[in-house]
Amino acid sequence: MNIGVFVCHCGSNIAGTVDTEQVAAAARRFPDVAFATDTMYACSEPGQAGIIQAIHEYGLDGIVVASCTPRMHEATFRKTLERAGINKYLFEMANIREHVSWIGKDKKANTNKATDLVQMAVAKLRNNSELHAGEFEINKRVMVIGGGVAGIQAALDCADGGLQVILVERESTIGGKMAKLDKTFPTVDCSSCILGPRMVDVAQHPNITLYAMSEVESVNGFVGNFDVSIRKKATYVDWDACTGCGQCMEKCPSKKAEDRFNEGVGTTTAINIPFPQAIPKKAVIDPQACIMLTKGKCGACAKLCPTQAIRFEQRDELVQEQVGAIIAATGYDLFDHTLYGEYGGGRYPDVITSIQYERLLSASGPTGGHIKRPSDGKEPRNIVFIQCVGSRDPSVNRPYCSGFCCMYTAKQAILTKDHIPDSQSYVFYMDIRSPGKLYDEFTRRAMEEYGARYIRGRVSTIQPRNGHYVVKGADTIMGSQVEIDADLVVLAVGAEAAKGAGALAEKLRISYDGYGFFMEGHPKLKPVETNTAGVYLAGSCQGPKDIPASVAQGSAAASKVQALFSKDKLASDPQVSGVAMQRCVGCGKCESTCPFGAIEMTEFRGMPKASVVETVCQGCGVCAVTCPQGAIQLQHFTDNQILAEVNALCPY
Ligand SMILES: Cc1cc2nc3c(=O)[nH]c(=O)nc-3n(C[C@H](O)[C@H](O)[C@H](O)COP(=O)(O)OP(=O)(O)OC[C@H]3O[C@@H](n4cnc5c(N)ncnc54)[C@H](O)[C@@H]3O)c2cc1C
Ligand code: SF4
Ligand code: SF4
Repeated sequence: MNIGVFVCHCGSNIAGTVDTEQVAAAARRFPDVAFATDTMYACSEPGQAGIIQAIHEYGLDGIVVASCTPRMHEATFRKTLERAGINKYLFEMANIREHVSWIGKDKKANTNKATDLVQMAVAKLRNNSELHAGEFEINKRVMVIGGGVAGIQAALDCADGGLQVILVERESTIGGKMAKLDKTFPTVDCSSCILGPRMVDVAQHPNITLYAMSEVESVNGFVGNFDVSIRKKATYVDWDACTGCGQCMEKCPSKKAEDRFNEGVGTTTAINIPFPQAIPKKAVIDPQACIMLTKGKCGACAKLCPTQAIRFEQRDELVQEQVGAIIAATGYDLFDHTLYGEYGGGRYPDVITSIQYERLLSASGPTGGHIKRPSDGKEPRNIVFIQCVGSRDPSVNRPYCSGFCCMYTAKQAILTKDHIPDSQSYVFYMDIRSPGKLYDEFTRRAMEEYGARYIRGRVSTIQPRNGHYVVKGADTIMGSQVEIDADLVVLAVGAEAAKGAGALAEKLRISYDGYGFFMEGHPKLKPVETNTAGVYLAGSCQGPKDIPASVAQGSAAASKVQALFSKDKLASDPQVSGVAMQRCVGCGKCESTCPFGAIEMTEFRGMPKASVVETVCQGCGVCAVTCPQGAIQLQHFTDNQILAEVNALCPY
């Protein structure tokens, strides 16, 4: 083999703590290395041109680039090889940036380690073989999971682009948190006026199939060909027959069901349509609250329903769908404030959450848009807002900023003054974080135009006294203790990963961070992609985001799907497992361990043998280490290649 080695400076990123010239000089002595040099930026156009020129000039048939992580530029350099006419798998990368220069300061030690890594890469490359990708058809349908504003945007953009969309929403209506908001910052425009028409578009779009009250049960397959099983949860109402007239709700005698849409402010009937603009606008029976389903008597709704839509016998149903791409847009949930004993731990009726306050502000809410204290229905005068409840607090394992709470608190203070002109709002804050367009101006308006008093400091206790609450805290700017007599306290609860996000991530085979938010492919360059081909992210499922950012991500994910579907066929990755038939004893261990179901047992000359479905195999290598016979090898990571690397590092 004629191997060329290129050792990248990456500006001073690598060359600052690695003697790249010395590494290149050492590489010239490795077996089969015909050419080695250092280069300023290997990934740049001149850097790649230098590689192509050397391939032609020295007749190179294998290339090692020592630079950054393969996650960053392996695809770049493989394309360079293709442009020079060499099979792109005759290429290896040695990561001397993340694994060397960024983690060590000792130049001599770094140079030695970089040399070792290059030697290992050369040793592996000498055992590489040409690999060739196959092709497979794409199913040009997309599934969007989660019907909040991000999922709605993604679904509509895909559907407008001519794709068939399956939208799966676990609640009985789409809309997510935005459907519960009164007005939105920084323009203070009515949330349902801007979201409502988009929800109707979803319902009316000929390319969108909506599964509400549904969740993804399982996902099999791979990019271009996912098989999805969806659990349609029992609603006890035939939605084909239900017209959403709401007559059933009027006569239902069970009126103490949890009102999920109104975030527990008040209760609702056991049979319920969450709000007038719900999409789909269909009734659902809460089986825990329904007298018929719990005690076997009642049936008032069934007697009243003009279309005989009630089905007490209904059970969950599984439906199968085939799609080529998936967009996860499952949003976020809100922090459980009862963990804070100092704020009453959920015991004080007039200490409520910010989303409950949105429902009080909203004309479609339980009080018809009048701000009333839950305890006695009286209008409050002094309202205290407490920020960062479950954000930026390591003591409750929420050290991150939830991003939008400073802004929605300013909005709520402004709206409070609009609703009750003689009210006074107080905001306890840690810092004001308002970096978006017109955001800083907006928080200033809350203070200067609407007279909200901002107090920098944390609240230490809230104590009930004579029907009010005494809020005690520190003013860290004035260096004094403050005590405010409040009629109502609103906690700006932070965002956390949606319930069940981890389980969904496992089904989609995507990564999630320590807090349960889904991981993007690259924090800067692949914000809506994941490490699983064909699975994309939109909105707050990836981390807290306001509406503009969620919508932008919904559109970005949709454009990624359109780009994927712009081809009729996709190339399969040839770095998959292969079975040596003569070694395989048909024990089936690989079949049971493969996490992707990519191994099938077949028969060969009357003997059971394992066989890899190449389009399903993800190249994880679990089967290769499981096989007791050593009959399975992962192409491009064979035992010989790995042993060659080990031997290069430890020759004795
Ligand atoms: C009190 C409050 C006020 C706010 N005010 C504003 C404002 O004025 N302006 C602004 O820009 N932002 C505001 N925000 C932020 C706003 O709520 C978010 O930006 C927005 O909701 C994010 O949209 P999303 O679609 O990513 O997530 P979500 O709105 O959370 O929607 C996610 C959807 O996915 C569904 N889902 C979850 N898991 C699954 C699953 N496993 N399967 C199927 N479906 C699932 C959920 O039911 C939900 O419908 C506010 C937030 C709060 C808490
Ligand atoms: S279940 Fe019957 S009564 Fe209830 S909303 Fe639907 S059609 Fe109307
Ligand atoms: S059966 Fe009775 S309790 Fe149950 S939803 Fe119908 S009316 Fe309500």
